[in-house]
Amino acid sequence: MEIQLPRGTKDWFGDEIEVRRYIENIERELCRLFNIKELDTPVFEYTELFERGVGDTTDIVQKEMYTFMDKGDRSITLKPEGTAGAVRAFMQNNMYANVQPTKLFYIMPMFRYEKPQSGRLRQHHQFGVEYFGSSEPTADVEVITLLIKLFCKLKLPDVKLHINSIGCKSCRREYNERFIKYLEENKEDLCDTCRERMYKNPMRVIDCKNIQCKDIAKNAPRVLDYLDDECKNHFEKLKRLLEVQNIAYEIDKDIVRGQDYYTKTVFEFIDRRGSTICGGGRYDNLVEEIGGKSIPAVGFGVGVERLLLALTEENILPIIKNDIDIFIGYIGDKACEEVQKLASSFRDYNIKVEVEHMNRSVKAQMKYADKIGAKNVVIIGDNELKTGICKLKNMHTGEENETTLDKILHMLYN
Ligand SMILES: [Zn+2]
Ligand SMILES: [Zn+2]
Repeated sequence: MEIQLPRGTKDWFGDEIEVRRYIENIERELCRLFNIKELDTPVFEYTELFERGVGDTTDIVQKEMYTFMDKGDRSITLKPEGTAGAVRAFMQNNMYANVQPTKLFYIMPMFRYEKPQSGRLRQHHQFGVEYFGSSEPTADVEVITLLIKLFCKLKLPDVKLHINSIGCKSCRREYNERFIKYLEENKEDLCDTCRERMYKNPMRVIDCKNIQCKDIAKNAPRVLDYLDDECKNHFEKLKRLLEVQNIAYEIDKDIVRGQDYYTKTVFEFIDRRGSTICGGGRYDNLVEEIGGKSIPAVGFGVGVERLLLALTEENILPIIKNDIDIFIGYIGDKACEEVQKLASSFRDYNIKVEVEHMNRSVKAQMKYADKIGAKNVVIIGDNELKTGICKLKNMHTGEENETTLDKILHMLYN
């Protein structure tokens, strides 16, 4: 039997990977403009990092991680998300000793054991940005504006910003008491997972995918109504900063995000079909929980596959032009050798060249040149080698002109 690719994964090739690279290039260019530096960390980390970082009551850690023991009996997990690894790298490399803030981005594969469905692969690719060191809402707004620029460059229409604040530890104390009380009244209808985690982290019930839990969550108290003064001020300042930049937003008390580490600001971008494109938020306690130092931070992650799906649904996938500047064909053994040399020197001038590798007839070579989208074609034979004069065919107009190889080089280079 032929070996198939693992369930929930895909092969990237052809137009699709070209579009993926196109999106990634926009992301890189935006990060350059925002002075955000690249971070690349291993695809796997010690499992403990995610248990502590993402939170052992989250769906990610409880249900979705690719965890295994390596040959040295260490528990290893393929990255289910990017932030915990970024925090680990920030701490381990003493980046906190530099002048702050530290602005980092990454484009990396992530792994989650999920039910394969459209837009949710077991290996997906994520663009993430993390700002360390600033507790100011200007940092929150800056990462939000980067996303808005990204959607704008991709021409995604009507993407709406939803914001919420889920407060800090201190304002969540009173809220959690109220919330647990409410959950206790509905305990019978909660799923097993939620019944178990409701005391440790009641907020997880709000993003449980179970229908009955969703129903219960609908009428549950929301943390936005329980903010202390500091968190309230932070949220007010955030809203003002959005307003001065004319960034429309909607307050959405239902956003809690799937990770335990968020504090204060959480946000999501929703497309016009009502589904979430991406999200992020502030995580002021995570660095301390993982690395011991108290450093505020804010960031987001956006899946490349999710963006591709949105572009496909809107029917606005960019058309990637893949034209070949010139096809150089040949007749005869001598010309075959010369063409190899010629192609090489053309490429030194940044000219995109294809040559004949199948030893086809001239007629078949012309057909091939047309099929691969060559803009120009020249066929070299003994005569062309002797006189230096050849015929250049423009494949768009069909026009043929007598010229020299030097002149062709000049024309294509300019
Ligand atoms: Zn607070
Ligand atoms: Zn549940």
